[in-house]
Amino acid sequence: MIIIMKDSASAKEIKDVEKILEDFGFQTHPIYGEAKTVIGAIGDKRLLSMNQILTMDGVENVVPIMKPYKLASKELKKEPSVIDVGKGVTVGGKKLAVFAGPCAIESQEQFSFVSKRVKESGANILRGGAFKPRSSPYSFQGLEGDGLKIMYNSGKELGMPICTEVLDTRDVELVASYADIIQIGARNMQNFKLLREVGKCKKPILLKRGLACTMEEWLMAAEYIMSEGNEDVILCERGIRTYETATRNTFDVSAIPVSKELSHLPIIGDPSHATGTYKYVPAVAKAAVAAGADGLMIEVHNCPEKAASDGAQSLTPEKFDKLMKELDPIANAVGRELL
Ligand code: PEP
Ligand code: MN
Repeated sequence: MIIIMKDSASAKEIKDVEKILEDFGFQTHPIYGEAKTVIGAIGDKRLLSMNQILTMDGVENVVPIMKPYKLASKELKKEPSVIDVGKGVTVGGKKLAVFAGPCAIESQEQFSFVSKRVKESGANILRGGAFKPRSSPYSFQGLEGDGLKIMYNSGKELGMPICTEVLDTRDVELVASYADIIQIGARNMQNFKLLREVGKCKKPILLKRGLACTMEEWLMAAEYIMSEGNEDVILCERGIRTYETATRNTFDVSAIPVSKELSHLPIIGDPSHATGTYKYVPAVAKAAVAAGADGLMIEVHNCPEKAASDGAQSLTPEKFDKLMKELDPIANAVGRELL
């Protein structure tokens, strides 16, 4: 439920409401707005009813949250969340967040080269996989700990936040010690133990949409993370499985306006994993920005034909640069900034 406090509510009245909720086992999530304070309360309404809270001083109204996801819902928090990912970069504000880099970190030379180039073109966050979720156990699995160090060095050198995936609960602490943003990949979107584990850490989480997951399942996955105390979740639409085989996945552009209606969490688009083909990446990237995405994740490789993974969908640094220039007027047309 959501407890809406009166404009005139005193700090003590707010504290008293929070206290009684906590005494009855509710998790409280106060949002201290300029004019109004609202308190999100998640717990068993049979123990403490909405009517009981309505009688308390300073309480204006109590309303139920109808959606199964609570903390992720727009019902609880109306204003869009702007997530600070460190090194002066935010996701969800006027300026678009552009995550760019290779699918996998292959060497320091490769990662440094691509990182510098994407930065020059206007990307503001580096991406790269150190732990790779591969369909085949015989494919390159990533440089693991060494990959994290490589990425960390480049992020530090260029002053850019880094985003990398974690696959296993046992690696969360290690990944969190290097990464600015921790990625949960599509294949792990419903790995509930992993979601809970990253919910306990203090780093923002990039939550990719599962291969065949509905919007509600996706927001419930965000709820798993948020219910552990980590409210900094960024959604990433990366295409879903459909009957179509011309592209690797089908980019669900409508996920962007739908998520904006249902949730306050920022959402970015990943045209690389959605299409699987570099040729289609620019058009889908533009569609995502035009639809209101808060940013993009784009795979860029110095030599796509030799890439250890996802070469077919990777842009060269030159193609990425061209795309950024083409995206700029589209971003401006929808009231955002890119370059
Ligand atoms: C990736 O970002 O390289 C990746 C594996 O993404 P996804 O989980 O969307 O397939
Ligand atoms: Mn990839």
